[in-house]
Formats: sequence, structure tokens, C-alpha cells
Amino acid sequence: MSETTVKQRHPKGLWVLFGTEMWERFNFYGMRAILTLFMVNSLLIKEADAAIIYGGFLALCYLTPLLGGFISDKYIGNRYSILFGGTLMAIGQFLLFISASIFDSSISSAKLFMWIALFIIIFGNGFFKPNISSMVGSLYPKQEKSKLDSAFTIFYMGINIGAFLGQFICPYVGDVKDAAGVRDIYAFKWGFLAASIAMIIGTVLFLFLKNKYVVTPEGRPIGGLPKNNDGDDFEEGETQTAKFTSKAIGIAVVIFAALFFVFRYVLVGEFGFTAVEMGKLIKGIIYPFIYAAGISLAYLIMSSAENKVERQRIWVIYIVSFFIIFFWAAFEQAGSSLTFIADNQTDRHIFGWNMPPSMVQIFNGLFVVALALPFSLLWDKLRAKGKEPVSPLKQAIGLALIALSYFIIAHNVKDLGNSGLLAIKWLMLLYLIQTMGELCLSPIGLSLVGKLAPKRFASLLYGVFFISNAAGYALAGSLGAIIPATGDKFQKAEKLGFNLQDVLDKKVTLTTEQLALFEKEQLPIANT
Ligand code: GLN
Repeated sequence: MSETTVKQRHPKGLWVLFGTEMWERFNFYGMRAILTLFMVNSLLIKEADAAIIYGGFLALCYLTPLLGGFISDKYIGNRYSILFGGTLMAIGQFLLFISASIFDSSISSAKLFMWIALFIIIFGNGFFKPNISSMVGSLYPKQEKSKLDSAFTIFYMGINIGAFLGQFICPYVGDVKDAAGVRDIYAFKWGFLAASIAMIIGTVLFLFLKNKYVVTPEGRPIGGLPKNNDGDDFEEGETQTAKFTSKAIGIAVVIFAALFFVFRYVLVGEFGFTAVEMGKLIKGIIYPFIYAAGISLAYLIMSSAENKVERQRIWVIYIVSFFIIFFWAAFEQAGSSLTFIADNQTDRHIFGWNMPPSMVQIFNGLFVVALALPFSLLWDKLRAKGKEPVSPLKQAIGLALIALSYFIIAHNVKDLGNSGLLAIKWLMLLYLIQTMGELCLSPIGLSLVGKLAPKRFASLLYGVFFISNAAGYALAGSLGAIIPATGDKFQKAEKLGFNLQDVLDKKVTLTTEQLALFEKEQLPIANT
């Protein structure tokens, strides 16, 4: 099908949401690409700990949509949630820019800025992500719901074009090494600034285009305040608008002030918490939350399910949700262990160009953009022949593919030893197979929940589905931490026969030759 027919068939609002989500995913995935390397190289956090912080951060990003969805449904509506979430994320990225600008003069302040930035991004994502997706659904009146599959395929491409652009630009400006392979540890800030600018573009785009295009076929704006809105109509300029928005901003300011106080003065200041301990704390919060949420939802749903068929369907959703935990745990190694391997043990030359390590994950976005339409055409074709695999089978294929991708990489790294290099083509193949798995599992899972969930529990069961994403990400952090560290500065110093902490604490004085060695390895001499 040609581009023009697609454009004619879908409302213009879809392209506004496509563009807004594209810039948002640029900001999210661009930052995600360089985050762990920034932690390890500039903030001197160990690779294993960076992996845990990264997993905890992603997991929280997938828990807050429950909160963002709830507040939006009850109080502020999709539109204000998207604007609010977008603004928070732009601020968060800017704080990361500040963190990456000041670490040289004060590593502890830089870490503090990073923690606050990550928390703001977590909340921003919670407001933005569920609302933009549900607005796609609301664009289509009941009689046009059959276009939804194709609408979400287009939307999924927007997500991944954004991811692709972010994973190109942010590493390009932020993950810089010289010809000798020495990293410019001051460059990460430009990557975070690019992410912040992308989010500002997305938010402004939505702000100016929403009233004109994100409307029902009759021209009424979609996604307004829930009070004057029974799903699709909305009157601009209501006095409650200002009241709800200022309330939401007020609550957010109080939450951030409290978080800032707790982190700065209680945990970091009073108890001397390190980044590592903070990472463990986050994990400690996430796991019980996930278990409690899972068990209580199971109880709630099972006890009020009306009949056997309903109960069986709910069980299927639970079983599928359980298995996708392992998919995302494996998939989300992209920003941690796979990036560390790309950094320390990969020959990244492509057509003579040495690709920045954090850019290697770009192949996922690239392959999604290339394969999303062929995959949906393939399902259409198989359906026409009556041979389309049932959804759980597609998901099983997705799991098998991701397992296969790691078998291939494991086979290729097993003889590398400490100094051998992996050819980048193997990582490209890994991302190709993983992307095929993602296309079998991710969009299919979303629509499976939609098909099986009894209407009155639909949002709750989507909640369960997203909590399993969060659990997967938390597990991704723990798995990423298992990989033997090869690139963190503590390990490098150990290889030279030093305890880096002792050097930083000035318990050891280095000779001129030792200083030269430290400089060559880009190890810090003393940092406050
Ligand atoms: N890559 C997709 C996105 O960013 C899906 C991620 C997920 O569902 N966990 O929206």
C-alpha cells in the first residue's frame, strides 16, 4: 500500500501523535543509549552497579504509567498529561546535561543531579506514555476500530523512527572517542542536551497542532478533561482546566521537593548512601511492589470473574504476562551489558567507520522500521489462507527468537578470552533476530490483552501486562550486572595493581610513571 493511501485512510491526528511520540522516543532512547556509559566513565560507577541502576530506572518508567493513566482518566485528561509529561522529561534531560557538565568539579553533586533527573524522567514518562497510546485508540470512532491494527503498526514505526534518530544523534554527539580510542568523558552532556531539545520539539509540536488535528471526525477535540468528556468531546477554555493543571503541577512540585529532600539530606547526606546503595534501594522498592500488585490484582480479578470462560481468559493474560518478563529482561540488555560488550570487546568498524559503542543498539529501531509493515502484511496473508498462528504461538516464537539471538552471540564470544574482539556483524545479527522476536511478541501482546480481557477489567489487566514489562526491566538490571566487568575504572585500576578507591582517597601516592599509566587508561587521580 502506498504512502498516500495510508495518509488518506487515517485521520491527520494520527500523524500528529506519530510525530509527538517520535520526538519523545528520540529523547528516551537517545538518553538510554549513553546513560550507562556516562555513569561508568564520568561518574565512576561500576559497570555492574550501572546495570542495576539502569534496570531499576526502566522498571520504574513502566510502573508510573499506571499512576499517569489513573490521574489522566480521573483528573486532567490525555492532553494535559502529555504536555505535563513532555515538559517533565525535557527538564529531566536538562538536569542530566547539568550533571554531565559538572562532574569534573564535584562528582557527588553530579550524582545527585543524575538521581533527580532520572526520577523526573520516570514521572514524565508515566504521564506521557500511556496517554499518547490511548489517544491513538480514541481517534477512531466505533465503526472504524478495524483500522486500529494498521494505526498501531504506523504508530510503532513512529516510536522506532524516533528511537533510531535518538540512538544516532545522542551517541554521535555524546559518545566520542579519538583515533586512539580514548573517550572524551566530557562529551556525554551534548547527548543529553540533544535529548532535551528533542523532547521540547515534541511537546511544542503537540501543543500547537493538537486543537486542529487531534479531533473526532466531527472536529471535536479528543483527550480533554474527563469531567466534560465522555470519551471524545471536550470544550476548550473551561475554568477547571487551569485549576486541574495548577493542581497537578502543585502536587508534582511537592513530590519532587520531598524526593529531593529525602535523597539529598537523608540518604546521601545523613547516611552517606552511595549510588550503588541507591540502586539496591530502588530494586528493593520495585520487587515487593510488583509482587504485591500482581497478587492483589490476581485476587481482585479472580474473585469477581463471572464464569469459567472469563476466568480462563484472565489466566491466559497472566500466563502470557509472566513469560514476557523474560523477553524484556533479555531484550533490555541493549543499554547495559550489550553496550558494555560493544564498548570493550567489539570491533565496531562499518565501511571503515568506527561506530560509537552506544550507537550499536540503533539496529533495533532500524530493523523495526524496515520490518513492521512486512510483518503485518505477512500476518494478513497467513490469515487470508487460514494459517495465521494464534497469538500465544506468535509470542512463543518471539521468545524462541530472542533465545536464539543470545545462543549466537554466546557461541561467538566464548573463545574471545580477554583481548579478542567480536565482529560487529554478530551484534547486528543479534538485533535483527531480536527485532523479529519483538514484532512477534510486543504488538501482539497488546492486542491479545485487548481481545481477552473482560471489558470491566480491561485497564487493570493492561496494568498487569505493563507491570510484567517493569519486572522484566528490573530483571534486566540484575542480569546485566552478572557480566564480568571489563570496562569500569575500578577494574582497570585493579589490573594495574591499584585499588582505585585508595588512590581517590589519596591513601596511595602515585609515581610519575604510574601517573602516566593512569592518564593513558583515563583513570582519575583524585576526584571529590
Ligand atoms: N519499544 C517500544 C516502545 O518504546 C515497546 C517497549 C515495551 O513495550 N516495553 O514503546
